[in-house]
Amino acid sequence: MNWTVHKFGGSSLADADCFRRVAGIVRDQPAGNLGVVVSAVGGVTDMLFDLIERASRQQPVDDAMGALRRRHGELATDLLGEDAAAPFMEQFETDLNDIRRILEALALVKATSRRSQDMVSGFGELWSARLLSALLAVPGNSREDVLFLDARDVLLVEPGEMGPVVVWGKTRENLGAALSADFSGVVVITGYIARNPDGLQTTLGRNGSDYSASIFAALLAADAVHIWTDVDGVMSGDPRRVPEATVIDEISYNEAMELAYFGARVIHPQTMAPAVSHEIPIRIRSTFNPEHPGSRIITSPGRPATVVKGISGIDGVALVNLEGAGMIGVPGTADRLFGALRDAGISVMLISQGSSEHSICFAVPEESADLVKTVVEDAFALELAQAQVQKVGITRGCGVLAVVGDGMAGTPGVAARFFGTLGKAGINVRAIAQGASERNISAVISSADMTRALRTVHASFYLSAKTVSIGLIGPGSVGGVLLDQMAGEVARLREDFNLDLRVRGLGGSRRMVLDDRRVDLNDWRSALERGSEMELARFVDHVQADHLPHTVLVDCTADPGIAAQYADWLKRGIHVITPNKRAHSDSMGYYRELKAICRNANSHFLYETTVGAGLPVIKTLRDLVETGDDIASISGIFSGTLAYLCNVFDATRPFSEIVRDARAQGYTEPDPRDDLSGMDVARKAVILAREAGLELELADIEVESLVPGELSSDAVASVDEFLDRLADFDASMAERFRAAEREDRVLRYVAEVDLSTGKASVSLQTCSRGHPFAGISLTDNVVQFVTRRYRDNPLIVRGPGAGPDVTAAGIFADILRLCSMLGTNHA
Ligand code: ADP
Ligand code: ASP
Ligand code: MG
Repeated sequence: MNWTVHKFGGSSLADADCFRRVAGIVRDQPAGNLGVVVSAVGGVTDMLFDLIERASRQQPVDDAMGALRRRHGELATDLLGEDAAAPFMEQFETDLNDIRRILEALALVKATSRRSQDMVSGFGELWSARLLSALLAVPGNSREDVLFLDARDVLLVEPGEMGPVVVWGKTRENLGAALSADFSGVVVITGYIARNPDGLQTTLGRNGSDYSASIFAALLAADAVHIWTDVDGVMSGDPRRVPEATVIDEISYNEAMELAYFGARVIHPQTMAPAVSHEIPIRIRSTFNPEHPGSRIITSPGRPATVVKGISGIDGVALVNLEGAGMIGVPGTADRLFGALRDAGISVMLISQGSSEHSICFAVPEESADLVKTVVEDAFALELAQAQVQKVGITRGCGVLAVVGDGMAGTPGVAARFFGTLGKAGINVRAIAQGASERNISAVISSADMTRALRTVHASFYLSAKTVSIGLIGPGSVGGVLLDQMAGEVARLREDFNLDLRVRGLGGSRRMVLDDRRVDLNDWRSALERGSEMELARFVDHVQADHLPHTVLVDCTADPGIAAQYADWLKRGIHVITPNKRAHSDSMGYYRELKAICRNANSHFLYETTVGAGLPVIKTLRDLVETGDDIASISGIFSGTLAYLCNVFDATRPFSEIVRDARAQGYTEPDPRDDLSGMDVARKAVILAREAGLELELADIEVESLVPGELSSDAVASVDEFLDRLADFDASMAERFRAAEREDRVLRYVAEVDLSTGKASVSLQTCSRGHPFAGISLTDNVVQFVTRRYRDNPLIVRGPGAGPDVTAAGIFADILRLCSMLGTNHA
């Protein structure tokens, strides 16, 4: 019969439900013999190491042992019932007594030893394997015979360079004795533990149950090893540190080994060796999501989508630097150095040597830093005394960051991107190494930078270059409609254009919502209601995340205070998109500053909707300027509200009544004077004038306000009173209308920018009926460009220029325009 080996890690055996889930998975396997290798119950190995530590410091251990007893007692009763739990607990007490004796000895010598750790730390696997085999033996839980196999009776290992090495001959012989050749059913095997040539209990090192699984798979000539854990597979980065990590479908043994070696705890690096020599594929899968196909670790995977398969990091590293002129050209220096370290049992994680041979730098586990210093100083005592070697420098608090992928060999640019990304993120690289296989590049950095480094490097290799972290400020009428529009489109944009728009922050005037991944756009209103108090600085820090390549803040307010932040944001590399006119129409100095930052800082500022809402006004103007046309004048109707009032007013009804009506229908600002004053139109004129190259301040514009001086908001606070008193001026408005009518003209509120004189004005004018400004409907805006190329027949942009729908769509278009400007690299 064929064998398949399944290994369940501690995270898959954390509680009774987990055990039942595992039993279910075992029961659901297709016909064939099963080897089921188990880790200790989640956290138990750590508890056992802690016991050893306590005993050696002569601290009390009873509470900790009580906790172990409680954990296993509860599990046994829950899974097996009181009666069947009894024999399990009896054996458990015997084991605890054995452990207590070892701990007493440790307390006497006040020290831990590798040997005592090996003796104690492996008990967890014995307990979990006994529990699982008892659970599987409960009728109905397994189809076949269930056998408990204590790996100490079979697996013989001896110490090797990389860790324990299997003595295959003797082990095979032992297995033959323990398991009859015609066995058929399920064998539950203790992971992690083994026996050494002295006959003592030992272990395969932390996370060693993975290695146990592949050893037993080789012994049983299994078709496959399935490593069941708490993640869906080997991921492009540790999901606990890299939120964007994705499952790697296929990965080579070599890649998996490098990733594991550089800290990807999901699999033990030595797991690969027995599987490779017997060509047994390994699958990494989740017990919590068994339908997911997981990752396949095989000899030669298909063509990868990305050159870099995964990114990993190890903390707790010290960097050692040996420096001195006396090493230049002296043969055998490295040999002596690493020989001494090997003799002291120190494993060196990474080596980097300058070609001048003036220094050698290497990384070791931090806990061996003191020992390393002594060993190296001893080995080079003579050179140190003669000042041929200056010093042995040790830098603690480091970590090794590595990118791994078979496809890196012969692909230029990977290192450039790796180090370029670290550089842009301001992360200092202390040492660099590249494996000769070109399968990995690693860098020693400060531990404090590790998570940020993992995220930025991951983003630069993995994410769609068009992944954008979006923060929207002001989800009011325009902002709210924009969110609703985006809700309907983001999925399609991701699928069709690989464009990943993630709204990760929403900030209202009082509340904000921050989400690590994305705010649910179908439910943003209630999310905002539940949100926390708005704090702009925290909002911006959150939206600009390390792990996402691009950040954009969309300001849908009309708040000058927010506009004043743009300079800071743009300097930080944050793109800004806004319909808020303030930044562009306040001082020319600020305008110039913003333009200068954008030129230097790699950030973009888009504001198409500041004039004409969704109409392509600024784009058209910019195209004209950039293609070398000369602008003679820009004029038009820039206010949907004033366009509407002029359209409707025919002197049959008083002007003040029309204003009151328009306000009731939502066509005006809450205080209609904001529209009637002409200041909004003047700001738009400033924006266009500056865009055309004119240095103009708002104060330079001649503004004819339709608010009589004595009714200004300074003089009359209440809007109602203003509307009442506006009636006093109805007669003069009616007269202006009739005067125009007599000449067959109409009244229009027009903005004009004359580029030759540098003058601009906004005022109520009359236009002939055939004029392009006359024949507009409702809230249409119209912008007319007279240029060298469009002299006799001006270029006209016309259409609805106000309202939440078209404004929101214009902002959305700016977001997409921004995406088309983003490079393929991390910017
Ligand atoms: P088990 O108890 O099943 O042996 P471990 O905790 O030892 O599980 O390993 C699984 C954990 O490994 C995951 O929860 C994850 O946090 C971590 N991990 C680190 N790097 C990776 C990676 N590249 N892919 C997947 N998981 C990783
Ligand atoms: N239980 C051991 C550990 O926690 C072995 C394993 O789980 O793989 O390291
Ligand atoms: Mg593990």
